Amino acid sequence: MIKVTVWNENIHDKNDPDVKEIYPDGIHGAIAQALNKMDGIKARTATLDQPECGLPDEVLDNTDVLIWWGHTGHHLVPDELAGKVVERVLKGMGFIVLHSAHYAKPFTRLMGTSCSLRWREGEFERVWCVNPGHPIAEGVPPCFELEVEEMYGEYFDIPQPESLVFNGWFRGGEVFRSGCCWTRGLGHVFYFQPGHETCPTYHNPIVHRILSNAVRWATPHNTRPGLECYNPIAAEDMYEKGQDIGWY
Ligand code: ZN
Repeated sequence: MIKVTVWNENIHDKNDPDVKEIYPDGIHGAIAQALNKMDGIKARTATLDQPECGLPDEVLDNTDVLIWWGHTGHHLVPDELAGKVVERVLKGMGFIVLHSAHYAKPFTRLMGTSCSLRWREGEFERVWCVNPGHPIAEGVPPCFELEVEEMYGEYFDIPQPESLVFNGWFRGGEVFRSGCCWTRGLGHVFYFQPGHETCPTYHNPIVHRILSNAVRWATPHNTRPGLECYNPIAAEDMYEKGQDIGWY
């Protein structure tokens, strides 16, 4: 079973009646329920208002893939927790970053850029698959439509993605790199743009397919002890065997 933790700041979900109506169990609840219907995935939720922001070490240590939704509460995530998330991604934990989490602390730290973009609310979006052979595109049609989404437009200040899987087009003429993949250390990172809090995007079955594909793609496959970026025990062992290759 792939162990997924769906983290949400859970602020709009609690305070905005429009969001409550669309997501009575929160955005995190809707995503976790959809993933739990998929074979081989066990998803749980965690929220900012829980002790230790819902992500104590024992939760992070038992997470293969962390999904992150945030918007107004990025600054409420302690730097120390953001650092722990980054560290685990570098050691192989998958990280799926949704919509306005483009400004989430762990994401901007992993990217090293501002991750800024253009935006406008209340737009029709057509999402085009531009990499149909990619595992995240498996079973996804050539394009699909979201009647109402938030327009996110270029320039999106991110490092060039290693793979671009989706492009978004909006009625206003803007375009956006809506599905981007990177490797950081041993970890896989996927950013997916759709998912504004007042839009029912996380009830869309194609979006469910994309998120479950992304979970499988981001699942760590190669995190045996000794493969971490720096493992002092392995380094010492190699030194004793005369195989010191210089760890820094
Ligand atoms: Zn939004």
